[in-house]
Amino acid sequence: REGRRPLIAGNWKMHLTHLEAIGLVQKLAFSLKEPELEAAEVVVLPPFTALRSVQTLVTGDKLEIGYGAQDLSAQDSGAYTGEVSGAMLASLACTYVVVGHSERRALHGEDDTVVAAKVAAALRHGLVPILCVGEGLDVRRAGEHVPHCTAQLDAALEGLTAEQLSAPGGGTGTVGGGVVIAYEPVWAIGTGEVATPEDAQEVCGALRLRLAERFGQETADLVRILYGGSVKAANTAGILAGPDVDGALVGGASLDGDEFAQICRTAA
Ligand code: PEP
Repeated sequence: REGRRPLIAGNWKMHLTHLEAIGLVQKLAFSLKEPELEAAEVVVLPPFTALRSVQTLVTGDKLEIGYGAQDLSAQDSGAYTGEVSGAMLASLACTYVVVGHSERRALHGEDDTVVAAKVAAALRHGLVPILCVGEGLDVRRAGEHVPHCTAQLDAALEGLTAEQLSAPGGGTGTVGGGVVIAYEPVWAIGTGEVATPEDAQEVCGALRLRLAERFGQETADLVRILYGGSVKAANTAGILAGPDVDGALVGGASLDGDEFAQICRTAA
């Protein structure tokens, strides 16, 4: 993965109050040493309510830990009760925002059109979308996982230019690309059933090939593609061995500071 800095992002989902969030980030900052944080990019994705606290801690202590949100509105402002805009996240100096997580797709009815609109909204506000794609068990059993994921990728990136895909993002200045892709097989999320390194590489490689077809090889080589789904310290090295797997989106294991730090260390 020449030139692509590994990225480990912790998706906390709907866990941790802002006070608990501070405790976890402090623990990570204490556990991870400077060379590790240089070798791998470490990012936390807390709930909206903890973002301000994380921002204050990260900027106040000059921590080399990135942060972002788990979702954003496709709209920029207006009568959208309960929604949070890209501008609001940008004003909290978020670097990243997850878009199209399978839980949003399944529980909130977000289809490819919504996901594409959210990717565009993120880019409009200088945020780096972490675009999630992935197949359910039925699709995997039918052997249709690669076309399923490339179709989700195509739909979400509709209308984007190569520059938007690979341009350096805002925020910490340590990011490597305008869009990050995460391959997250739905059957592996929160189930303890991790994809094999070969499964992860197969789809991540196919996604990069698709990016190359659409945006050119040079752009495709700059985009980081993560694997997500039951990643733990013990399986990280195997998963990251794939040449097209540039890091991990970590759910459950990111809530345990020691475990998450160990995953980051393995990636560094
Ligand atoms: C996720 O929610 O993005 C995820 C990968 O979860 P877990 O690691 O718990 O499977």
